Amino acid sequence: MPTLLIRNGRVIDPATQRDEVIDIFIQDGKIADIGVGLQHFADATIDATGKIVTPGLIDMHVHLREPGREDKETIFSGTRAAAAGGFTSICPMANTEPPCDSAQGMQFLRARSQEHSVVNILPIGAVTRGLKGEAITEFGDLVYYGAVAFSDDGHPIMNAELLRRALEYTSMFNAPILDHCEDLNLSEGGQMRAGAVAYRLGLKGIPAAANSCQVARDIVLAEETGGHIHICHTSVRAEVEYIAVAKAKGIKVTCEATPHHLTLTDACMEGYNTNYKMSPPLGSEDDRQALLDALRSGVVDCIATDHAPHSAMEKDRVMAEAPNGIIGMETAFPVLYTDLVLKNEIGLPTLIERMTAGPARVLHLAKKGSLALGKDADVSIFDLDTEYTVNPDKFFSRSRNCPWAGKKLQGKAFATIVGGKTVFLNGEIVV
Ligand SMILES: [Zn+2]
Repeated sequence: MPTLLIRNGRVIDPATQRDEVIDIFIQDGKIADIGVGLQHFADATIDATGKIVTPGLIDMHVHLREPGREDKETIFSGTRAAAAGGFTSICPMANTEPPCDSAQGMQFLRARSQEHSVVNILPIGAVTRGLKGEAITEFGDLVYYGAVAFSDDGHPIMNAELLRRALEYTSMFNAPILDHCEDLNLSEGGQMRAGAVAYRLGLKGIPAAANSCQVARDIVLAEETGGHIHICHTSVRAEVEYIAVAKAKGIKVTCEATPHHLTLTDACMEGYNTNYKMSPPLGSEDDRQALLDALRSGVVDCIATDHAPHSAMEKDRVMAEAPNGIIGMETAFPVLYTDLVLKNEIGLPTLIERMTAGPARVLHLAKKGSLALGKDADVSIFDLDTEYTVNPDKFFSRSRNCPWAGKKLQGKAFATIVGGKTVFLNGEIVV
């Protein structure tokens, strides 16, 4: 395998508390040396002068739509979108058609990934067969074929007894259950977060309790079983407050927040643009401030995009009928860098930690999330200085449902290196 030298970049590796201008030498897909003025002969060199070099970003919550809805996204297009956003590892959720709920489904994903993926695919297996919330899948089979976690995301697990048994079962495999917390009775028919904006716009609101009730339930079940529950896309103050208390008690609970819940609020719904319709919905400014506090303190372990491609035809409907979700991998780092780091909401090392070492810790990925010697050579290089305008027509994703179209951002990925191989460089996929 060709060797690679990354020269003269500002290396920020929160896991080892490194932040200095230095070289990195990559050999056999691993970080082989790191230091000032390295003299190794390398087959290729990337000049990272003036740029930052980080561990490859990990997105533990994406939807690739293959098999079933290849018109929205495929493994080919979705992994290229990931690479263009600086992500080297992504975890596709199991809610494809058919769902990834069996050894066969995992084998399909693995075969297609080997053929079409340009980043590491770390699959998530379904918790229940057909995502129906009735019968638990064969966790052992799913782990054998590569599952790093289990989730019915897209379909909340309403049956508490089933979730209790799943948490007991998953303890055997050292893999968390990632739960989309939503009480479907409380959220039924809702189009956005309940509150003054929903009232003014005449849109049916979803109370915060629709999400926070299930978070409280999950914490109770995690405590009783000792299983690891990971709360997907936290969006309201109460959720992160409950999680903070649970963590202090030593309960095995972790959580993520999305770029959109960290930077946008329900006020964005004013223009009735369906690209702001999500599940869970965008919260109030108070919710956003609570998420930011939790992100800074580490109560929020990681940032995940919930990349959810939908066709323009589907999104271009009245609010009640439009599907939930937005794409996010190609804009995540620039949005967070521009709206949070440049506005002094969080520090750059904290942002990087929550997108690298944080998800690696949640998913027990011992070889990822850091640039320490011997780790997998998954590396991202970002240009923090050049301002650019988001143009969805240029996305590698097959979908265009992005609320940041036309926004000026900084922090674009310059190069993405996966297992020592450069897959994205200066705007282009190079494999
Ligand atoms: Zn979800």
